[in-house]
Amino acid sequence: MSQEAYLPCFKCGRVMLNVCVEADNQPSEGTEFRTEGHYGSTFWDSFDGEELVLNICDKCLREHCDRLGQQKRWLPVRCEGMQGFGRQWVERPLVAYTGNADKSELVVEVDDLGTSVPGPWIEWVADIGERRQALEDQIG
Ligand SMILES: [Zn+2]
Repeated sequence: MSQEAYLPCFKCGRVMLNVCVEADNQPSEGTEFRTEGHYGSTFWDSFDGEELVLNICDKCLREHCDRLGQQKRWLPVRCEGMQGFGRQWVERPLVAYTGNADKSELVVEVDDLGTSVPGPWIEWVADIGERRQALEDQIG
């Protein structure tokens, strides 16, 4: 635990403060990136659960948006105007950075929470039954 994030910015070397002092590496105005590796790398490709970790400050990310890509991996499940019920995994292509413009989500009815009715590849939160019951009680 430290006031400073464990790692400086990978690009510029700037030391970043942690958002909260209890964290080891939770940089303020920066992002932590983790990978177990990548087939094709001759530098890091772990098969034993060890991750490579680096931080990049927001300033460096903004300066090189043209080098960034993004990929939508799942849609949040929304019900009665709220999120936090689960996610629907999707297969979308890797695209050039757009600034998180894809706000698509899966909207479901209360009766469908925790079921297979809304569609495939849905991962419900562990307490979906309790959340569904709470919503049913709330809306009558
Ligand atoms: Zn930087």
